[in-house]
Amino acid sequence: MDHIKRPTLKLKHSSDKAKSKERSLSKDKHGKDAPRSPARPKPVKMDLVMESPPVLLMDNPQQSSGALISGRLQVTPNAPQVELESVKMFLECSTTTKRPVEARCRECMNQVKDLYEWHFFTKPKVFRASEGMQELPFSHLIPGHLPGTTHGYVSSIEYSLHVRARSTSGEETEFRRQLVINRALRPGNDKNSVRVFPPTNLTLHVTLPNVVHPIGEFPVQCRMTGITTKRDDTQTRWRLRKLTWRIEEHETAISPACPKHIAKVGGEGKGVQHENTRDVGMDEMKTGWKTDFSDGTVEGEFMASMNPSAKPQRGVDSANGLKINHNLILELVIAEEWAPNKKPNQATPTGAARVLRTQFALNVTERAGMGIAWDDEQPPMYEDVPASPPHYRTSSGEGLTQIVDYEGEDLHEDVEHLNLNS
Ligand SMILES: [Zn+2]
Repeated sequence: MDHIKRPTLKLKHSSDKAKSKERSLSKDKHGKDAPRSPARPKPVKMDLVMESPPVLLMDNPQQSSGALISGRLQVTPNAPQVELESVKMFLECSTTTKRPVEARCRECMNQVKDLYEWHFFTKPKVFRASEGMQELPFSHLIPGHLPGTTHGYVSSIEYSLHVRARSTSGEETEFRRQLVINRALRPGNDKNSVRVFPPTNLTLHVTLPNVVHPIGEFPVQCRMTGITTKRDDTQTRWRLRKLTWRIEEHETAISPACPKHIAKVGGEGKGVQHENTRDVGMDEMKTGWKTDFSDGTVEGEFMASMNPSAKPQRGVDSANGLKINHNLILELVIAEEWAPNKKPNQATPTGAARVLRTQFALNVTERAGMGIAWDDEQPPMYEDVPASPPHYRTSSGEGLTQIVDYEGEDLHEDVEHLNLNS
């Protein structure tokens, strides 16, 4: 738990209250000051009908053109005649942390920000029971830079439409409807990545889709070269014995402090950073690839997927410090063998084995599928990502590849009990 500064952007929002209209949940009338008259019905009954399709922001936050929402607020008077002073609706963004700075402090746990507000009329308006339900239309362009609805392990981002109707006699009626905001990145060209494992000659080429989805499979194509080293009469080569893949979801979140508990984090604009890493999919394979020692290559393709019961999140990078990203981690167990060049099929294990580890960033996003951006007549904008150059670090282990000695049981006898963490 490091005390760190929140991003500058957030700091600006927090101190500029007039502009951002940041406030606590006290706007809601669930508390003591709510009128308690159970015998008396609320002056109006409200409901909300959305006309626009589910909100889907296309492209990344820097490029997205946003999504139009439209709908009708339905107001039905509960008395022969009800005069409403105002009907306001707020597009609210609510951020919640499961690790509040002060335990059990609601203000530390939850921040609500109004992103937009509608005032349906400026002068008091009379609703008559004889006229029945009345509809108040609304629409808005949801800005494309907003983070999508996210339910992380530590932190959550949710949106809702919150309506407050106030009668001229001072009675309040509230209504709330959750608004799910999704983001989709468009499918584009596959990503080709190359990883090298010095001091060996092994080079791993991996092809992945540029976007993957929380539900469904995606192909991973692998080709490793440099597995055979030939000398005058003999050759040594690496045989792939086992391949394990894992999809890791990494979340970073910053818990802010409410004004009352700001001293606990060392002042305004600071928060406590939390991190959480979990696996949302994995499998292992002991067969399914083609080995060609004369060519020095091994290649194959497998399907990877995330476990829906793990409820994998979409990737997100929010101005409030919530960031979720995903990596595909590959671990290849290779065993060395020796053979005479004249009889390459008569191989003898040398007993040496290694574990190759590497990882690739995954863009986990909603399916673009049925969702169509409101301005989809504009040509799609792809951010062309060139194939990654080889990345490696030989000593720190923090780089993209790692090669370690395998010190488990004899690979040639029993691959069932390989321990990749040895
Ligand atoms: Zn607090």
